[in-house]
Amino acid sequence: MRWVLIGASTIAAQYMIPALRAHGGEIITVVSGSWGRGADFAVKHGITRPGTDVQEAVSDADVDAVYISTTNEKHLPQALAAIAAGKHVLCEKPLAMSVADAASMVRAAEQKGVVFATNHHLRCSGSHRAVRQLVRDGRIGRVLSLRLHHAVHLPANLQGWRINSPAEGGGVIPDITVHDADVARFLLDEDPKSVVAQMTSSGLGQGVEDSAMSVWAMPSGTMVMSHESFTHPFAGSGLEVHGTEGSIFARNVMTQNPIGEIELVTAAGRERVGYEPYDLYGEAVRCFHEAAAGRGEPAATGWDGVKSLAVALAVREAAATGARVDVHYGDVK
Ligand code: NDP
Repeated sequence: MRWVLIGASTIAAQYMIPALRAHGGEIITVVSGSWGRGADFAVKHGITRPGTDVQEAVSDADVDAVYISTTNEKHLPQALAAIAAGKHVLCEKPLAMSVADAASMVRAAEQKGVVFATNHHLRCSGSHRAVRQLVRDGRIGRVLSLRLHHAVHLPANLQGWRINSPAEGGGVIPDITVHDADVARFLLDEDPKSVVAQMTSSGLGQGVEDSAMSVWAMPSGTMVMSHESFTHPFAGSGLEVHGTEGSIFARNVMTQNPIGEIELVTAAGRERVGYEPYDLYGEAVRCFHEAAAGRGEPAATGWDGVKSLAVALAVREAAATGARVDVHYGDVK
């Protein structure tokens, strides 16, 4: 499959270019807003054609798919251009700045008959899939609660628009709460109904929140507690699922790499749970290639991205107003 990259970004450089190539993807062009940055990026990553014109790049008849990893406010026009040109699209989270915009991208892809996927990598990890399987197999009985620990330290090289630019989609809620919303939906197979929340700036955020804590009500009655931050160097990450017959502790699994440990605790004792340690982003690409070939759906669909954004924006509204907020998914499928 032949790809255009829109965005000379860190995520493309660190994870997506290796993942695309590992699964047979050929990268034809990288598009940047700056000719010099795009050219440097192209040389560094062995991409023959840098460019600055999105329309030109996505119109290339040799291209099958487009990966979008620019700042968040650019995703909408770039995705619509790629879709209009008949290309499959893998778009970074959060899909857009509003639920309506995100839904319009997914609907445009449906009308055009192209695959549209959201790059929610965590549901691609062996660890999260193993936890989901334990829940589905009834190993912890009826699920009572889920705790998501995703308070990390934002690396210095990423302390740009994420911490100081609302216009580009900065803030920990669009950055990490969207991932946690997808994890909760993936593990529990249901969509959060309403949320309460608090947010703050605790050292990094300038005009945007760098920390958030929220509690989500699920239709089944399960409660979800979610904590995201950019300012916690030593907190570690993880998730816990607690049920009537057992608890699952998955430590250091809210990461970009196939690491972490899972422990199942029941009346029978403590048990270490194994999982396949494959590359998370590679798995997302593999599923995307399969979907583009007409075999199944991508790991996270466009609608998954719309829903995770709806939850994140509800968290931000709840934190801003102090009110309990119902999650509005619009006319999402
Ligand atoms: P970056 O800040 O690295 O890149 C975003 C944009 O910033 C690029 O498109 C680039 O613009 C511009 N840029 C990059 N480097 C510089 C620089 N030195 N000076 C000025 N501008 C620069 O962002 P990320 O890679 O961290 O994130 C990009 C997108 O990917 C976001 O939507 C984010 O939410 C998402 N993301 C998803 C992850 C996941 O696991 N799914 C993980 C990390 C990010 P241009 O293209 O015009 O050159």
